[in-house]
Amino acid sequence: MGLKNRIKKRIISNDDFYYDEKNIFLILTIFLVMLDIFMVITLLTPKIMLMNGKEEIKDIITINYKEKFIFPRYQAVYQKYDITSHVKVFGKVNSDKIGDYKISYQVPDGLFHKNRVITVRVRDLSAPSIKLTGKTNVTVCPNKEYKEQGYRAYDNLDGNITEKVKVKRQRDKVLYSIVDKAGNKKEAVRSLVYQDKTPPSIKLNGSSYESVYLNEKFQDPGVVAEDNCDGNISKKVKVEGKVDTSKCGSYELTYSVMDNNNNKSKIKRLVTVVEEGQNGSIYLTFDDGPKAGTTDVILDILKEEGVKATFFVTNRGPDELIVREHAEGHTVGLHTASHDYSYVYSSVEAYYQDLLEVRARVKRLIGIDATIIRFPGGASNTISRKYSKGIMTTLTQDVLAKGFRYYDWNLASGDAGECYTAEEVYQQVVSNLSKERVNIVLMHDIKPYTRDALKNIIRYAKENGYHFDKITEKTEIMSQHVNN
Ligand code: ZN
Repeated sequence: MGLKNRIKKRIISNDDFYYDEKNIFLILTIFLVMLDIFMVITLLTPKIMLMNGKEEIKDIITINYKEKFIFPRYQAVYQKYDITSHVKVFGKVNSDKIGDYKISYQVPDGLFHKNRVITVRVRDLSAPSIKLTGKTNVTVCPNKEYKEQGYRAYDNLDGNITEKVKVKRQRDKVLYSIVDKAGNKKEAVRSLVYQDKTPPSIKLNGSSYESVYLNEKFQDPGVVAEDNCDGNISKKVKVEGKVDTSKCGSYELTYSVMDNNNNKSKIKRLVTVVEEGQNGSIYLTFDDGPKAGTTDVILDILKEEGVKATFFVTNRGPDELIVREHAEGHTVGLHTASHDYSYVYSSVEAYYQDLLEVRARVKRLIGIDATIIRFPGGASNTISRKYSKGIMTTLTQDVLAKGFRYYDWNLASGDAGECYTAEEVYQQVVSNLSKERVNIVLMHDIKPYTRDALKNIIRYAKENGYHFDKITEKTEIMSQHVNN
């Protein structure tokens, strides 16, 4: 482009400039006129203000799903006049449904009526909840993996969203996160500590007080050791102490065990070496059974406590209980079949008939010709006088001649009529035990309160240094004074 052309262009531009100045003036004039019109319209249009407290509300209000919508306070003015009372409000908000709702405020005053519309948006603003099952601070065995204990996620709108939870496992924690459909987030953390400070549990098989006869072999019932991390560690148990069965006395055994994390536990047992029939021995004797519901429970307790007893049976009750008595090491003695005083003591013949009947039952069940017997009511009973005078004097000699051995008692548990609760039976027995003699305790395995008292009687006796015997043919005869 030549110099001439450039100058020409500048001149033309100057003309344009002039022309533009006129234009701006025109635009400015139009603008001012319009501003006036606008001001007039504004002046002649009422004003509606919506207030939330002291803040003025804009055109959009957002509220939470299910949140109660409170209509904002409003004020309307026209020029200098308050025309609030002229305002009419139209529209509804259903916050139970996500969506946009229009509310309009209208006033008829002024040249230009006012219709102010606002939008109320109902949105899900609430974060879902995550609930962790179990502890949020979990101790995990060092040799084990953390096992997820579960969680639940719930959203006010989406409902149960447990399946959408993202679980992130880290060494020392588990992170749970959830996002609902509206994008609200929630997180939860469970912390994991890998350690084992729990000592193993160690429990005695049998009782903490056991007894063994002089010169018999002591069979240690052993212990069971369980650890929260290592499982059954009974094989790691070490026993300190020894039982010398060649010498009467008490021997302490200490069982100790340590888990893989050096947590230790121990437990003790006292074993007494005794002679049969020694003073301080207890012969538990149970009459009138067997009976389902009591004898079976009594057998369970005796087994658990490692105690042997003597049962004087009748022809009542289930056969299998007599079989059990024998199989579990107790003595099965004879009491008579019917236990009917009026028949049993009507004559010597009747007595033997009844005795032999129950003897046959026992023979059939356990294959033994029982010789250990107890008279119904005991050798000292007076009731037999009513049916046959002098019969006890005859029988107490005659049974011995026939090879039977009869056993009365020197400690009545009271369960034949004086005591009616387990507590009474317990008190009656323990308060009459003596270490200065053998204790032959009369009990009835058909009585529920005797059944219920038994465990505590055995515990008391063991803890107080007594031991238990069963009657055998070697046991010295125990006879009360014969009164008929
Ligand atoms: Zn009886």
